[in-house]
Amino acid sequence: MRIGKMNGCARILWLVLVLFAGLLSFPLNSGAQKSPRKLAQSSGVGPKRNAEIMRLVREIDARNIERTIRKLVSCGTRNTLSEQSDPKRGIGAARDWLFGEFQKAAAQSGGRMTVEEQTFEQAKAARVPQPTMLTNVVATLRGTQPESEKRMYVVSGHYDSMCTSPTDAKCDAPGANDDASGTAAVLEMARVMARYKFDATIVFMAVAGEEQGLLGSTYYAEQARKNNLDIEAMFTNDIIGSSLGGNGMHDPHRVRVFSEGVRSNETEPEATTRRSVGGENDSPARQLARFIKEVGERYVPGMNVWMIYRRDRYGRGGDHQPFLERGYAAVRFTEPNENYNHQHQNVRLEKGIQYGDLPEFDDFNYIADVARVNASSLAMLAFAPAAPKNVLLTTGLANDTELKWDANREADLAGYEIVWRDTTAAVWSNSRWIGNVTSYTLKGMSKDNYFFGVRSVDKEGNRSPASYPRPAPRARN
Ligand SMILES: [Zn+2]
Repeated sequence: MRIGKMNGCARILWLVLVLFAGLLSFPLNSGAQKSPRKLAQSSGVGPKRNAEIMRLVREIDARNIERTIRKLVSCGTRNTLSEQSDPKRGIGAARDWLFGEFQKAAAQSGGRMTVEEQTFEQAKAARVPQPTMLTNVVATLRGTQPESEKRMYVVSGHYDSMCTSPTDAKCDAPGANDDASGTAAVLEMARVMARYKFDATIVFMAVAGEEQGLLGSTYYAEQARKNNLDIEAMFTNDIIGSSLGGNGMHDPHRVRVFSEGVRSNETEPEATTRRSVGGENDSPARQLARFIKEVGERYVPGMNVWMIYRRDRYGRGGDHQPFLERGYAAVRFTEPNENYNHQHQNVRLEKGIQYGDLPEFDDFNYIADVARVNASSLAMLAFAPAAPKNVLLTTGLANDTELKWDANREADLAGYEIVWRDTTAAVWSNSRWIGNVTSYTLKGMSKDNYFFGVRSVDKEGNRSPASYPRPAPRARN
């Protein structure tokens, strides 16, 4: 029916109806930004996969990992207090072999990877009866972009081991899982990744003294802090060797990633803010865990990253802690179900049960998959621009959310993405590309009702982890 054909009365009635319908639909049609549902739909396009990451993930080889573990086990013991100059037995033999293997990896890097022994004297401590020399083997693959090269990512395993007593330097301590598995994964990543060029710097590290009280990683983290190194993320791989737990569960498709919620180095004013508006679930370590879940599961099909929202297991610790305590984002990778008969035990057969950390209990294919989850995440971190810095959220009374941050000066930056999720959700559920700007307002979405983050994106679509905003100081008026 055409309006022109209506009589006057019908025409007025029609116009009233049209106006009324228009009024009803106004809040929904006045721009997609008014409706969170519309915003959710606007983020539909997922990032495309990075071909280099797909390739390096395929190059990680379980046979190399097995070879490393058997070699480390052949040192008899790698107790930090054991022999340092015997070429066959003790931690010194393991140290020298690892140094040589990292050098072989470096030889493939076109001069970009350098290997050093970071040696220091550890003073007497609870598990160190007399001053002892400790050595971390550290391979650094320098970034290739001048603005990104100082940005660092560290991945570690500990090459020391122990049997039942942490100060028994004589007993056999094969440490095939704890932690030859983590050390072998790191060495294999170094071998593969040395041949690739990343924007930022990656450090592959085998540390000593973990069983003596996280001593090697503490020293590294302390030096890093002293020298003000920009370590944006640290992964420790510790007990990633077995897919079969002491509970009988066989789970070769899952790895736990432990991340702390409240920052270990949180200040009292920061705690006050957190208690007021939340954020106990949004520490840098937790953003890192979310990032690993997103990237690792995308590049390693079949692997599930099981985020555990705690710093570590009950009564246990790991090499990520000294980093966390010094303000660096760090997480721990560990197999899903541990077998305590195979950790910190003298090798023995008792009532038909085999105790001891032997290579026969390792699953080399599983370790390779965990290494792939690590490698894909590290590669994405080092390809992508730095996560946005100094992200602030305006706190005035408004139903919009205004975010701002410092400009990222990296040459290949394309822009930024806002991510958000429901306050009870574990992972970011939505994202919106906003271009190369340093502030953005989400209209009609109240900061009170969601958690927001900002991430950087480069021209190839590589994305940084999200930065969680802190409330901007309130403007006085
Ligand atoms: Zn360990």
